[in-house]
Amino acid sequence: MTGERILLVEDTPELRSHLADEVLRPAGYDVITAQDGAEGFTLARDLEPDAIISGYEMPRVNGLSMLEALRETGMQVPFILMTAEGSEALAVRALRMGVSDYLIKPFHDSELLQALQDALRRHWTRRITDQVPEQLLQANRQLEQRLRELDTLVTIGKRVTGQLDLAQVLSQVVQAAVEVTGAESGSLMLVEPGTNELYQVASTGEAQDAGASLRLPIADSLAGRVVQTQQPLVLAGDELQKIKTSYLFRALAYVPLLLKNRVIGVLGVTTRQEIRPFEHHTIRLLGLMADFAAIAIENARLYAATEKERDTLNTILRDTEDSIIVVDNDGKVLFVNPAACRTFNLSASRTQGRPLAEVIDHREVVELFDKEARSGRSRRTEIALSDGRYLHAQLTIVRGVGRVVVMQDITHLKELDRIKSEFVTTVSHDLRSPLTSILGYIELVRRSGPLNAQQQMFLDRIVSSVQSITALISDLLELGKIEAGFDEDREPVCLAKVFRDAIETLRPSWEAKRHTVQVRLPDDAPPVLGNPLRLRQVANNLLENAIKYTPDGGQIRVMLETEGDFQVVRVADTGIGIAPKDLPYIFDKFYRADEAIEHYDGTGLGLSIVKGIVERHNGRIWVDSQVGQGTVFTIMLPNHTSSA
Ligand code: ADP
Repeated sequence: MTGERILLVEDTPELRSHLADEVLRPAGYDVITAQDGAEGFTLARDLEPDAIISGYEMPRVNGLSMLEALRETGMQVPFILMTAEGSEALAVRALRMGVSDYLIKPFHDSELLQALQDALRRHWTRRITDQVPEQLLQANRQLEQRLRELDTLVTIGKRVTGQLDLAQVLSQVVQAAVEVTGAESGSLMLVEPGTNELYQVASTGEAQDAGASLRLPIADSLAGRVVQTQQPLVLAGDELQKIKTSYLFRALAYVPLLLKNRVIGVLGVTTRQEIRPFEHHTIRLLGLMADFAAIAIENARLYAATEKERDTLNTILRDTEDSIIVVDNDGKVLFVNPAACRTFNLSASRTQGRPLAEVIDHREVVELFDKEARSGRSRRTEIALSDGRYLHAQLTIVRGVGRVVVMQDITHLKELDRIKSEFVTTVSHDLRSPLTSILGYIELVRRSGPLNAQQQMFLDRIVSSVQSITALISDLLELGKIEAGFDEDREPVCLAKVFRDAIETLRPSWEAKRHTVQVRLPDDAPPVLGNPLRLRQVANNLLENAIKYTPDGGQIRVMLETEGDFQVVRVADTGIGIAPKDLPYIFDKFYRADEAIEHYDGTGLGLSIVKGIVERHNGRIWVDSQVGQGTVFTIMLPNHTSSA
């Protein structure tokens, strides 16, 4: 330790300046010097140095006399005596008088420094041990108390988070509050919404004797005051005071239970013995307890709300007529509702946690859940059951849960659809002959006499309208045939050739619009098993749409790829695109986007025909589109080998 003030008393000037300037100051000490014992005594008394180094033999007052005089004033400073004499008697005398060390001249500078250091250290150690124990003990006692409080807080914290029985948690909070505050009784009251009253939910000690069913008006009670002010209330008094309840106290502390800045209750402790008011620190601890209680109450409320919601949800899932299956991200069954159990003949308990493919013997359902399935874009499909029923299945990916499929029975809709289709087919058929007659008669009118320009124009318009109706009727009849499952003849078909032929046939249309057509149609791709005429219809419809819905000078690309067991054809254009709101419906019969209705001719049946054909070939079709950027239709058909 350096920086201490050292008084050096020495009559020989050389030794004095050597020790002061070359030994003590360089070692970091603050040195005061005196020439003899008399001067040393005065300086020591006035400046109270941390240590004195003094010679023995000096004019006027010698070193030991100076020490003696200082001791008489009560000064207990480390004292190092330097003497040339070295007599035993002097040493004994000096030590008896309490000098810290004794150096015989000549000594080495380092000996002096060492002696000084040791003397100072001994001195400080003694002073610390003399003075500090009581403070230490007190600090220790306080620390132990804090540790006990912390312990209580941790225990209560654990209980609050680990226990769901609210009554038990609250009663433990009250007990702990009484314990940490050193009070005798405690109570916890909650605000009853709508009544302006507080009711007691937990209590110990005398508060407990006051009755579990205690109720207090918020407007006119001490606890009520805490609710109104949102502040703790601390009272103490010599006199036992009577509070509104029936029990008595000398000191009281109430703290609010705050939840989202709202007081939901009051935690209070009281004592009869102690007259002192509860300390600030104690009130803070009580506040912490109140926070715990508020958390426990909120936890319990949330838990009850969650339970209720779960019950409601369970009832809905149990009672709904729709079949619902949920699988996790690994494809294992999480949940199957009773309707799904009935539909697929399952037992809910035996499906839980097992891979879906093992529990459901239905290819389409399993495929719908298949994460890798390409059809995943729209994830809506129709499922035919062996008993003749049809389900409409919708898959939703729920992040953090897995995949959920809801299946609705649409058998009655399918039946209606069939009846409607039959009707449409019959009517279409019956309309064909009158339309042919109209065209025939128009031809006759044209031949039977000169027509003026206006008559000619009217006839042209009639022909164009009749032609659109005829196109519509042909489409309807086509659709009827596809849906009825005619044209079931199958043969290996090379999709590359089908699309290339279609592109060639449509060359006049796309050249007229100055489109460029790029193809990647490898002839060596595996064939599919299909009806060549129907597949050609698919190619024609997709290409006609691409040409039609792409403004002049656009680009159309047709790409065929083999992806595993499937042939995948993409028909991409740089056309007007399809708005997201229209995307789910464009494969529906007669559906046309507003943009198409306004600016382009069409029946709205082309894509229904395409979808019908693709599905009849065990394939899938989907669309990706960006308004103003373009559209990609993708069809996927199984390879001949794998579909055989
Ligand atoms: P349409 O006779 O109207 O072309 P489709 O059934 O072939 O009937 O198509 C249905 C609707 O889908 C169209 O009306 C149009 O809105 C939209 N559509 C189809 N293909 C395309 C495409 N390549 N680009 C933009 N929209 C398209």
